[in-house]
Amino acid sequence: MNDTVIDFNIEEVSPRAVAASYESYFSVKAGAVALDDFVVIIDTLPYPRQAKRFREELEAKYELPVKYLFITHFHGDHHYGAAPFKDVEIFGSNALIENMKRRREEGWTKEAFDNWKKEEPDFAEYIDEIEIVIPTNGFEKERIIRNNDLQMEFYHSGGHSSCSSYAYYPNERVLFTGDDLAAKSWPYVSDTSGDPEKWMKTFQHMLSLEIDIVVPGHGPLGGKELIEEQLSYLQALKTAVLKTISEGNGPEEVEVPEFYEPDEDWQISRALEHLHAYYSTNST
Ligand SMILES: [Zn+2]
Repeated sequence: MNDTVIDFNIEEVSPRAVAASYESYFSVKAGAVALDDFVVIIDTLPYPRQAKRFREELEAKYELPVKYLFITHFHGDHHYGAAPFKDVEIFGSNALIENMKRRREEGWTKEAFDNWKKEEPDFAEYIDEIEIVIPTNGFEKERIIRNNDLQMEFYHSGGHSSCSSYAYYPNERVLFTGDDLAAKSWPYVSDTSGDPEKWMKTFQHMLSLEIDIVVPGHGPLGGKELIEEQLSYLQALKTAVLKTISEGNGPEEVEVPEFYEPDEDWQISRALEHLHAYYSTNST
């Protein structure tokens, strides 16, 4: 057994907050905050074996139990690791619970996981441990968890996907964005449940918060400049799409403003199709 394929780093981002980063999978992030009496975890990393180690290290570091797991959205790289947290309260937006229930029927089939194992045999034993754990508690717009003078805030925004949500720890000015922000990379606009207008409003809300550290869903840690960069890119992309629509042209004609290269070429065409359809039917 060679666990190096699932190695990840844990880094302190403030006295009570950490970020975990699995570089090998698009630098996907999870996070945690230790309040006075318990730890709150934000997302799980892709594999239960990773989540188990993350939990053990946090409980040892802070000498506190994990009480909550918050899931930012339904994409598997953020909650496939949830199995070791079935004894704590797992929560997210109401839309997350709906999306997960639907995807469990339609996408997360045994056949799909078997195909994944065939494609990546080195990961088979870790994939075998994955369980789809549907959160037990949902919230519509926001939730606050208080513990003495400390608190965490959770907002459902619906940008990158219809259930996308993020977590804010105001006491140490740390924001965990989930995939509303993939820092320093092409924004993943391809999920058709996503909404570019809500996404830009989400960025504006994030920018209104007092933030020193941004922990993105993917990519490097940074500050507010990471959010400003993606917001201005989404605005430029919207302008380009609206121009194309006003000229009566299809999505393939959009002049894509210069930005980071996506990981796969199809991401651009799918994003343009989604945005073109969206702005053809939604007034702004
Ligand atoms: Zn992701």
